[in-house]
Amino acid sequence: MFKKILVAFDGSEHARRAAQIAGDMARLNKDTELWLVCAMDILPAELGKPFIDELITERTHIGTEMLQQAKEIIGEKVVIHEEMLFGPPAESIMNVANGNNCDLIIMGTRGVGGLKGLLMGSQIQKVISLSDIPVLAVK
Ligand code: ATP
Ligand code: MG
Repeated sequence: MFKKILVAFDGSEHARRAAQIAGDMARLNKDTELWLVCAMDILPAELGKPFIDELITERTHIGTEMLQQAKEIIGEKVVIHEEMLFGPPAESIMNVANGNNCDLIIMGTRGVGGLKGLLMGSQIQKVISLSDIPVLAVK
């Protein structure tokens, strides 16, 4: 049974289903905990400081709302470690997974990017190629 599950959330329909599954899996076993990851875009360093401050405030606000949305979907009776990170999604997800010895990653096959032609989004593809632990791709 998986005990440390990372669920990656970007607010998309697929990610919502991923969060639902993560919550259900965690409720099956009282020892299972979730790491809920929302990664915000990198802030371009060349922007001036007032803009960076404004962007950080705005992204932090969006990230907080996304975490809240995901927690509501995951539901009750689950231990959730919230991780809002500023950085590229796949690398942020891998850092949290490796740093906490997670044993499963749950993600949507697609996200908010919306390139319909491809089988899967670029971030999940990257995670699958980088990860040594199982990745559950939710359709
Ligand atoms: P692309 O980003 O390549 O244009 P996409 O958005 O359709 O395409 P991905 O970004 O790979 O596809 O999204 C697949 C899954 O990855 C999402 O359902 C979600 O679980 C996770 N994910 C994507 N972006 C983030 C993010 N910023 N933070 C956390 N999880 C994310
Ligand atoms: Mg995306």
